[in-house]
Amino acid sequence: MKAAVFHGPRDVRVENVPDPKIKSPTDAIIRITRAAICGSDLHPYHGGMPVLPGFVLGHEGVGIVEETGPAVLRLKKGQRVVVAACPACGDCFYCRRGQVSQCSETGSATFGFGRNFAGRLGEVGGAQAEAICVPFADYTCYVLPESVDDERAAFLADILPTGFFGALNGDIRPGDTVAVFGCGPVGLCAVMAAGLFGPAEIIAVDGLPYRRELARKFGATPVDLAEANRKILDATNGRGADVCIEAVGSAAPLDAAFANVRGGGTVSMVGVPGEPTYNFPISTAFMRDITFRIGLANIRSHIPHLARLIEKGRLDPRPLVSHVLPLAETPRGYQIFDGHTEGAVKVLLKP
Ligand SMILES: [Zn+2]
Ligand SMILES: [Zn+2]
Repeated sequence: MKAAVFHGPRDVRVENVPDPKIKSPTDAIIRITRAAICGSDLHPYHGGMPVLPGFVLGHEGVGIVEETGPAVLRLKKGQRVVVAACPACGDCFYCRRGQVSQCSETGSATFGFGRNFAGRLGEVGGAQAEAICVPFADYTCYVLPESVDDERAAFLADILPTGFFGALNGDIRPGDTVAVFGCGPVGLCAVMAAGLFGPAEIIAVDGLPYRRELARKFGATPVDLAEANRKILDATNGRGADVCIEAVGSAAPLDAAFANVRGGGTVSMVGVPGEPTYNFPISTAFMRDITFRIGLANIRSHIPHLARLIEKGRLDPRPLVSHVLPLAETPRGYQIFDGHTEGAVKVLLKP
């Protein structure tokens, strides 16, 4: 089959790789109909994650069940599913508590980053391909309602649940002022998800005008990073935001989140960290009683209710799709997404 293979920083090639095969009885093969490029794919693309080149990229995929292993009980051939970015068993200590990103069977495995991020599975495939082998398929795949099309469903694989997780961890209360730092696709999903909790205002901070414009369409007050502090203080009688959500995964926006949260407020980080350590402002956090929440989103646990919200029209991520490219153009997809050119926001791939 054809797949997008990571060969090294800024070197993504679409080439022939062996077809995925069922290795474990709980596996299923999904024929991918839509995949997406994610901000976290840019970490290896920039040389910023300890990956071993040669793996199939992609952890956001929607497709059709093609084959199921003998122990797959619920999933049936021909069903249309979204594949959660992190496979999970659905049955261990963690999965039963909804903390599926800590699944003890898969060990925080994520599709599309090669062996070093395959957790206890040892090996996982990627979704930027014609097909993928999905471990623990009965749980990792979610059967889609007919009214949620592939392009909207692609957001359920990772970034809509991730944005939702960021909003949930922020403990947003009705009437709050929420500031979202970073209006890439995850930040914009956090803007959408934050709206579900009834804030009075969502201030969306980003340096790119076209992304601020999208944030405005989702009901946020868009501001440039340079004006963020003044706008947030003006909006909150000088206190700072009740909740700051960091949606980039780097030090500068996280610093800005800590600098703009009110005393007693919460900083919630959902950007995947590009660096292993951060100079945590421990004195400020202590003196100002700031709660810091961070984590790999429990994607699969959030999919059912988010799918329902899309189905009923309460959430619509479709405006985030800026490009739908054939799989063969994946390298160009990475270039425009990384370079913020051609108005790139969410780039989908069509195998
Ligand atoms: Zn992603
Ligand atoms: Zn589990």
